[in-house]
Amino acid sequence: MSNDEKEKILVADDDLTSRLILTSALKKWNYEPISVTNGKEALEILSQPDSPQIAILDWVMPEIDGIEVVKEVRSMKKEVPPYIIMLTTKTEKEDLMAGLEAGADDYICKPFDNKELWARIKVGIRTINLHRTLVKAQKALEYEALHDPLTGVLNRRGILERLEEEIERGYRKGYQICVAMFDLDHFKKINDTYGHQTGDEVLKGFVKILQNHTRPYDSIGRLGGEEFLLIVPEISESEAILILEKLLNEIRKSPIYTHNNELKITTSIGGIIINGKLNVDKVIKLVDESLYQAKERGRNQLIFHGAIEND
Ligand code: GH3
Ligand code: MG
Ligand code: MG
Repeated sequence: MSNDEKEKILVADDDLTSRLILTSALKKWNYEPISVTNGKEALEILSQPDSPQIAILDWVMPEIDGIEVVKEVRSMKKEVPPYIIMLTTKTEKEDLMAGLEAGADDYICKPFDNKELWARIKVGIRTINLHRTLVKAQKALEYEALHDPLTGVLNRRGILERLEEEIERGYRKGYQICVAMFDLDHFKKINDTYGHQTGDEVLKGFVKILQNHTRPYDSIGRLGGEEFLLIVPEISESEAILILEKLLNEIRKSPIYTHNNELKITTSIGGIIINGKLNVDKVIKLVDESLYQAKERGRNQLIFHGAIEND
């Protein structure tokens, strides 16, 4: 949520007066109230993807009561679950316990005091914002764990996890997958001649060429050093060979611009096409063997092995 966007607050109350008092107070405090008159509507709104993160629910309502709404919402497993304040005329302690036990975050008794409501909503906003920050940090960590900081593509772990998913999906849907391993030729010489920074820029430039000539649903990852993996799902053997030959050629002919040079590089490619539920380690071993042959036979070439099935 951006800073100038108003925080949406759901108000669910079957009593018109109470609803009006609440919504006008919320508007005055610069929130965006969304009001409904029963638990069913409240649940519908809270089930939507971009639903309000703060909800003020009346306890007794037609259709579904507040407690039931709370229970349902708590079973939804949202990324940031809404902060729920129960609103009720019941004052007994046992009721309060039941509300909190069902998963409500706070509890206010009617008739409520405006200042108290204001303060409790503030607590809710603080809690939600803390939760949002945590989710964001967690996502950033997850991203970092699976991506290569230099080139931005998946790292070894990321691309191997993706490979496993793609093999599984291909098997389920009954299509073939092309897996190709790229290793830049004599890359050490680039570092030795032009320095490590240029080497880094060449790696980035190489990835750009791959990205520019593959489809968005193909996956590219850096296995390590100057070695990369490409996964092309849903493809025939002849198409796979065409794509890899084209990539080989694009890399040969495309200049890579670095801070002080314009360089051309070549790559060796080992490619295979798989058909069935193969083990990731085996796939990597096979594609690595093809790559090794490409290097052995003089580099700057593709060695491709046709349909490999599960044994
Ligand atoms: P070959 O054709 O047999 O693949 O020869 P090569 O020189 O490409 O292969 P080798 O494995 O001998 O050398 C790879 C070099 O890649 C060595 C290493 O210093 C360099 N390298 C690995 N990671 C990075 C990186 O992140 N940045 C830079 N600049 N160089 C890297
Ligand atoms: Mg190399
Ligand atoms: Mg290497």
